[in-house]
Order: sequence, then structure tokens, then C-alpha cells
Amino acid sequence: MKYSMIGTWKMAFNGVIIGENILKNGGNVKDAIENAITYIEDNPNFNSVGYGSLPNIEGELELDAAFMDGNDLSFGAICSVKNIKNPIKVAHLLSNSKRNCYLSSRGAEKFARLNKFEFKNMLNDIAIDRWNNEIQKNFDPDNLEAYDGHDTVCMVALDSNKNMGVGVSTSGLFMKQSGRVGDSPVIGSGFYCDSKIGGAAATGVGEDIMKGCLSISIINNMKMGQDVQSACENALKDHVNRLKNPNYSPGTMSVIALDKNGNFGVATNRDEFPFIVTCENFSTKILVCRNNNLSMEIFEPDEEWLNNYDYD
Ligand code: ASP
Repeated sequence: MKYSMIGTWKMAFNGVIIGENILKNGGNVKDAIENAITYIEDNPNFNSVGYGSLPNIEGELELDAAFMDGNDLSFGAICSVKNIKNPIKVAHLLSNSKRNCYLSSRGAEKFARLNKFEFKNMLNDIAIDRWNNEIQKNFDPDNLEAYDGHDTVCMVALDSNKNMGVGVSTSGLFMKQSGRVGDSPVIGSGFYCDSKIGGAAATGVGEDIMKGCLSISIINNMKMGQDVQSACENALKDHVNRLKNPNYSPGTMSVIALDKNGNFGVATNRDEFPFIVTCENFSTKILVCRNNNLSMEIFEPDEEWLNNYDYD
């Protein structure tokens, strides 16, 4: 495959089209990922990424993002940042650093300011209303689930020069504690990429994803010879089985991956998980991964499915 790109959730659709246009014209994987995610961060219609996304318990927006270059394994990540317009751009720039490439809150904001990244008030009225409604409910802060509206946008891509990369951006779990960081900006858990093997990323309950370092598990399965779909399914199945415990039921987790040839894989422990793909053989389209007892079925959704799907 000359080029290929995969993104999490239906909200990735227009972002992947942007990436597709870059990749099919011979563009670089890094541009494809940054532009795709920037579009989603800027779009107030998506509830859980960038502008107008999901506040923490104190009604503040604390965003996480990461970027990884599969050629030399360099990565950049930021967590718990406030009012940075495009966290993915900051994470991308940080991936050029050999040290200090993972910065949190104040330090990350200072870095962004020094490098002239745009700042804006990322809370909008919709996000404030969503928080106002939620704070009045009797919810259990120790039992948060991934937002059903949906959550982290993850993009994995391969360009025509065989470069691979991964980017992720999220506001994290809705009503999380201030300072809480999930899997998304954590290398090996929320994302991983090695152009000699493939790239992977995760979305869902970060605490449970981190317990299994799911993204690197997928890469390791591929390294051991598993095809990309089996690598995703086995990593998720092994991890869910490991977490099984009469006193604990694991949160929802979904993963996407590409191998070094651009073939894709996906797995979820939700009932269904929509994702977006493109490659030289077909233009951007939505597919759905259906979980049958941790064995995956992938199908193209029909009109009815799409009409019934209310989420991002
Ligand atoms: N993984 C994200 C987190 O735990 C949330 C999500 O993707 O649903 O912060």
C-alpha cells in the first residue's frame, strides 16, 4: 500500500479526508496527522477534543495530546494543558526534542507561549452547560466511564515514503479530577509507532488502557509475526482477560493500528466501535468494529446504522 490512514470514531471522518488529500499527493505523514487532528480540535461540534470539549470536575478544560514519529521513535506529549488552541501542534514540535519532550500543565503552556502557539479560551457555552448538567447529578468520581459522546481522536498513518506516525488529542474523561492524566499522552499506552513494524493507538478508559500498555502490546504482537488484526484482537483480549475479576469490570477500550504496509486492524470491548480508514485502494470511509465475545467483525454501516448513531 502506498499510503494509508486510520482514525478513531466517526468524528475522524473529515480529518482523515484532509490527511488523505495530503498523502495521495505524496505529502508527509506528519503533515497528514497534524492537519487532520487540528481540524478536529478546532471544530466545536466534536464534544471531546479541543475547543468546547469535556471539562474536569472543577469545570475546567485540561487537554492532553501526543505525537510520535515512527522512523526514529521520537515522541512529544503534553498533558493537563489549558487554553492551548491546538495541543497536537505543540506535541508535534516537542517530538523534535531529545529531552523534555513530555511536558505537563504550566511547563507545557510556557513552552507553547515561547514558541508562539495560539492560545484561546477553549471553554464554550456548550461545554459549560454540559458540565452544569453533570455536576448536579449524583455521579461516582471513582467510577467514570469513557464519554458516550465520544472521546480521544487518534490517527495512525503511513506515507508513500514508508514513514509512519501517530497523533492523539483529547480532553480525557469527562468530570475527571483536576490534574488527572489518562493513557492518551502516555507512550506505549495511548500510542506507539515504529515504521519498521507499524503504529497503534487507543481510546477508552485510560486507567484500564494503561494497565495493559495496549499500544505497545499491539506493536509487540506484530513484531512476533501476528497480522495487524490479530495483533489488535489478541492484545485487547489478553488484557481484558487479565483484568477480569469478580470485583471489577474493566472500562471500555478500543484500539486501532496499521502495519508497516498500511493494512489496518481494530478491536474493542464495546458492542460497536466506528472508525475511519483510507488508503490508495479506496477513499475515506467509515467502518464499524462489532465485538462478539472479544472476537471482532468489521462491517460497512448502512444508512439505518448511521441514522441511529448519534455520537461524534
Ligand atoms: N483515553 C482517554 C482518557 O482516559 C479517554 C477516551 O479516549 O475515551 O483520558
